[in-house]
Amino acid sequence: MSRKSRPYLFYSTTSSVCTTCLRPVEAKILIKQNKVYMDKWCPVHGTERVLMSDDADYYRLCREVYVKPPEMPERFNTSMR
Ligand SMILES: [Zn+2]
Repeated sequence: MSRKSRPYLFYSTTSSVCTTCLRPVEAKILIKQNKVYMDKWCPVHGTERVLMSDDADYYRLCREVYVKPPEMPERFNTSMR
């Protein structure tokens, strides 16, 4: 019995804060029935699901078009002699 049905599409992870204690938590972004949810997990308050968008296509378009991949880190504090 290894077959698991996943009723949602896992999209990515991000960092967020618990809305109860404002602790930084890891959040998973899920797409389910064309809605985008963020699942947060706080060690104190447990799982919290937040609706981010009710149009998954629009959300993905925004992410993929407007969010640039990270570029070179600005690191100038390495001493070079
Ligand atoms: Zn919390």
